[in-house]
Amino acid sequence: MKILVTGGAGFIGSAAIRYLMQHTAHSVVNVDKLTYAGNLTSLVSVSHHPRYHFEHIDICNRAEMARIFTQYQPDAVMHLAAESHVDRSITGSGDFIQTNIVGTFLLLETAREYWQALSPVKQKQFRFQHISTDEVFGDLLHPDDAPNQVLPFFTEQSPYAPSSPYSASKASSDHLVRAWHRTYGLPVIVTNCSNNYGPYQHVEKFIPLMIANALAGKALPIYGKGDQIRDWLYVEDHVKALYKVLTEGEVGETYNIGGNNEKRNIDVVFTICAMLEELAPSNPYSLASGHLGGFRSLIRYVEDRPGHDRRYAIDASKIQQKLNWQPEETFESGMRKTVQWFLKSSS
Ligand code: NAD
Repeated sequence: MKILVTGGAGFIGSAAIRYLMQHTAHSVVNVDKLTYAGNLTSLVSVSHHPRYHFEHIDICNRAEMARIFTQYQPDAVMHLAAESHVDRSITGSGDFIQTNIVGTFLLLETAREYWQALSPVKQKQFRFQHISTDEVFGDLLHPDDAPNQVLPFFTEQSPYAPSSPYSASKASSDHLVRAWHRTYGLPVIVTNCSNNYGPYQHVEKFIPLMIANALAGKALPIYGKGDQIRDWLYVEDHVKALYKVLTEGEVGETYNIGGNNEKRNIDVVFTICAMLEELAPSNPYSLASGHLGGFRSLIRYVEDRPGHDRRYAIDASKIQQKLNWQPEETFESGMRKTVQWFLKSSS
């Protein structure tokens, strides 16, 4: 199979490409604009492989994207290119509308024209996989707000209620992808996943920021009281799920992907602090936890993000039951790998 991966120089896209190159015989065409979030270092281990091709292209450039489809004749698209940082979407949403909504629309149109010209056999085999987030569902009841109630989870049937410009742009793109299936028959599959963490994640994101700041002895900024709950999934578990959905999932279906790891943000930071004290014993904050108060003394509570969602939690029973997928890492084992990777890459 030849797979066109958009956003393949990003955090999840690069993990997907490393997985495809190491564990399958497929060819990969990576189309990436290389925004501030694109990082080709994450692909050094595969970049000289004859099955790997890189194209430095904006998905909004329709002519260039049409050339890519004609030249490489992909059997599948894994669409990960996006603007992905919620805070940036609040201070400037234009790029989010452009790439996440307009870019997805243009890609769908290019893919549709290409797909309609394929033979009936190839048309049946083609897949357009759209990678999205659980943030499209808005937020869920928080245990502190309803102490004795049964807590709900996001399912594939949950209504869309996005809170931020980022999640609204992803919600729009999900709707466009489903409409291209319903209206034109394009064989699409949608996945909505919880928060990822792992190697090569951009340092603007919560877990890498906390690790980098702690190691540098800088403040660890926590929004509000740090009681927001997120479900965390190790990125390599996510890409294994994506590959399963791409190759075994049903066309037109949606699959929620989650780690079954609900954590309060402040508890995630406590875990990072404890792991750093163990894994970076020569850091001044590990050495002198008495004198400096340890990494936890760097925690600073800051004004909450506007519209901040209280709780996300995924019911991943569909992908578990239908496709026999389970995360392999626990939060502790995935975090240990992540902290070790950041320590190695910063040394
Ligand atoms: P990322 O920001 O690390 O990477 C995005 C990549 O897309 C970058 O390499 C960037 O250069 C590229 N890109 C941006 N605009 C482009 C354009 N116009 N044309 C071509 N390339 C462009 O993002 P990520 O964390 O790897 O997320 C990938 C996808 O997965 C996104 O669609 C995101 O919404 C989704 N997702 C992310 C998470 C998460 O926790 N990170 C969770 C669920 C879903």
